[in-house]
Amino acid sequence: MTRVEDLTVAEALALILDKAHPLPAEKAHLLDALGRVLAEPVVAHDSLPPFANSSMDGYAMRAADTVGASSGTPVSLRVLADVAAGTVSQAVVTPGTAVRIMTGAALPAGADAVVPVEDTDEPWRDPARPLPATVQIRRSVRSGDFVRPIGEDIEAGQIVMAPGHLLRPQEIGVLAALGVSDVFVHRRPRVAILATGDELVGVEQPLAPGKIRNSNGYAQAAQVMSLGAEAINLGVAHDTEADVRAKLRRGLDAGVDLFVSSAGVSVGAYDVVKEVLEQEGKVGFWRVRMRPGKPLAFGSYQGVPFLGLPGNPVSAMVSFERFARPFVRKLAGFSDLDRPQVEVTLGEEMESDGRETYLRAVVTRGPGGYQAHSTGSQGSHVLTSLVRANALVIIPEGMTHVPAGAKLLALMIDWPEHVF
Ligand code: AMP
Ligand code: MG
Repeated sequence: MTRVEDLTVAEALALILDKAHPLPAEKAHLLDALGRVLAEPVVAHDSLPPFANSSMDGYAMRAADTVGASSGTPVSLRVLADVAAGTVSQAVVTPGTAVRIMTGAALPAGADAVVPVEDTDEPWRDPARPLPATVQIRRSVRSGDFVRPIGEDIEAGQIVMAPGHLLRPQEIGVLAALGVSDVFVHRRPRVAILATGDELVGVEQPLAPGKIRNSNGYAQAAQVMSLGAEAINLGVAHDTEADVRAKLRRGLDAGVDLFVSSAGVSVGAYDVVKEVLEQEGKVGFWRVRMRPGKPLAFGSYQGVPFLGLPGNPVSAMVSFERFARPFVRKLAGFSDLDRPQVEVTLGEEMESDGRETYLRAVVTRGPGGYQAHSTGSQGSHVLTSLVRANALVIIPEGMTHVPAGAKLLALMIDWPEHVF
């Protein structure tokens, strides 16, 4: 007989996360590191900017030479040379002289400021115009004006990013600017997805009487992939122990870090996944007090963590969201595992059965804060209730009636801007 434990969502989550350990570091090329978590600090070997340079097209000179300059009383300076981005001028700026300079070009020796071309008598960026012999400066500048000093952004030797830092496009840009082409990040989690049930046919197959298409296999693979993890689709196992074993074997051979199955873990019915796990795994069967959801299996199969989700498509997705998502994020090295939560005002009254309920809802932002409206039928087989939703509003355990206007927390699966 299977012993079934009755758990709250928080209890189940704590037991599950206790078994998730950040995966080891591997070296990844910059773009392959996008969306992943740094496992080792990044130290800058260069300063950024690597040399003092001009922030404008203009003239580099000594700020002291511009004292009192204005459009009425310009100061005339002798132009020594021209310096374009990517080159270094040998000219040395002395009192009474200037060097024409382009944005990003290295500041020549002797100069301590730049006057933008707009504040001179020279035509605005005329590439055909030869270097003038003199230039009229029509404004005064202070030392350092329009100059980006060496190391202004990052100083050589500085720790730029610490372990645990998520690499977003802006981090990738900084790393590239520093010449860091490879970084140590946590390995991408590999997650095997297994659908089970004799009623299931593949997405390309025609329906036959009594059959439905395997939607969970795709929905869970997509959930894995949208976490930046690798999904290994084990397909559909028929309701035989031999088939379940064969499919799980493929996952073991692929070296997966987690198995996620759907269906076949209900309690009471003859469920082959449960049989196999009882024989070769160390798996607990739980009745989690959540809606949608309830049956959940968690433990390990041949030493690999195993999460058995309920079969109903919405229950499977919401249980993945609540339990598998934080598990995979922890493997990937994240310390912040949850979706953002906001307080919402419920638009209509709702009934619940006392279990912690995840109401599929549309959250919008209004003058009074965030408003939540149910996306309609909340049946655990009605997948479009999730298609319309951008949030899961949590009705706490024990609450059976929630009046309109109640303040609840919503787990944001998207932000209001993304509602379509
Ligand atoms: P079970 O947990 O096997 O009792 O399944 C519960 C419900 O989920 C049944 O209506 C199944 O047909 C359905 N179901 C199970 N697996 C899938 C799947 N992969 N795709 C879509 N529906 C499924
Ligand atoms: Mg079944």
